Amino acid sequence: MKAAILAVGSELLGTVRLDTNSLAITEAFERHGVELRRKAVVGDSEEDLAAELAGLLSGHQLIVLTGGLGPTSDDITRTAVARALGRGIEIREELVGAIAARFHQMGLEMPAVNRRQAEVIDGATVLTNARGTAPGLRLDAGPTTLFLFPGVPWELDGMIGEYLLPWLAEHLDGDLRETAVLKVACLPESTLEERIAPAYGEFGREAITVLARPGDIEVRASAGGPEAERRERLGAMTRRLDALIGRAVYAHRDTTLEEVVGELLRRAGVTLVTAESCTGGLVAERLTRVPGSSDYFLGAAVTYSNELKMALLGVSPALLGAHGAVSEEVAAAMALGARERLGADYALALTGVAGPGGGTEEKPVGTVHIALASPEGITSHRRLGYPGDRQRIRWLSSQVALEMLRRHLLSTLGTESPGAGTLGEGAPA
Ligand code: ATP
Repeated sequence: MKAAILAVGSELLGTVRLDTNSLAITEAFERHGVELRRKAVVGDSEEDLAAELAGLLSGHQLIVLTGGLGPTSDDITRTAVARALGRGIEIREELVGAIAARFHQMGLEMPAVNRRQAEVIDGATVLTNARGTAPGLRLDAGPTTLFLFPGVPWELDGMIGEYLLPWLAEHLDGDLRETAVLKVACLPESTLEERIAPAYGEFGREAITVLARPGDIEVRASAGGPEAERRERLGAMTRRLDALIGRAVYAHRDTTLEEVVGELLRRAGVTLVTAESCTGGLVAERLTRVPGSSDYFLGAAVTYSNELKMALLGVSPALLGAHGAVSEEVAAAMALGARERLGADYALALTGVAGPGGGTEEKPVGTVHIALASPEGITSHRRLGYPGDRQRIRWLSSQVALEMLRRHLLSTLGTESPGAGTLGEGAPA
């Protein structure tokens, strides 16, 4: 099945709003092996949308549109589709009643303008929108089925689950595609590519996709076909990729590094604090995004100045004088001081030059020292020298710090691969 996606809205053509709806729709397509051939963003112009649609009707069996179903005059999707198909459109009074009832539920009167949202194109099936006022529509035009969905991402998600996925399951019986995800932290993309190269040969280049973000790579393996065969192939690909990538795989599903680290801390029954200079508390912020993190995370000392490094963490003035704040020695002293003064089993300390100013020849922008203190003393130290802007350097530093801790905890727990235990249970995403 060949498909197209049309995202409607002038705001999507500017710089303030990115079209993310098409990604959610594409994910549904990928699960069912639908071939996405075209994707476009069209502004709020009835003429432009009708013309774009007319060009897509032949050659695509499925077209999904999002946005432009609101009540105002710039919401032109219904009328543009009617125009492209040469069909009539009328207001359905029972739908007006349903929209008015929704407003009443919220203690409001329905503005007259909202009557427009009850417009239905001839021959269309109305798709009730449980999360908003704009109903969706589905219609068949010869060999092509069109879905008109609202633009609000949360409403769209509801419509995909309620209408698109069941429709795809019904029309693409047995042709489901599934994806297994392996997440990898702090490995250069080229190193990863080198490691997994044999799997491309064994399973096919198109079966494996690598999505790289700074310090965080997602390897996605997908397989189609009948369920038993598909599952077996996914299992084989995951095992092979795991073996090729090794301990750098931190999760087998859509899990964040901070969640994985948190789970390991909980399993080990230990506590953590952070002492942060250049990251300003970013590592602590990431750790506390995870619900229940108070079980293992005690808190952080954000010590930006030398004075606070001394006062809160007990870093000695002599050490700061001899090596400077951005040094292995000071990172180690910060970690040891935080561990002892804040009373945790582990402490991560970060100190560096995030830029854009403050770099020297000896310590250029991007120089960051990270130390991990454990009950045995300083367990590991890393000196980073990543290029990039301030936010990238800070993010990468937090990523490396969490990865250092993850590696250490894996060794402590005797868990060589995340495949063991709950963290890595590799149900396909
Ligand atoms: P409603 O009547 O419920 O507002 P609508 O179908 O008219 O729905 P729009 O008015 O086009 O939707 O958009 C509503 C909101 O959703 C806006 O904030 C818009 O920026 C956002 N939005 C619309 N389309 C997309 C898209 N493709 N990706 C991400 N956000 C989108």
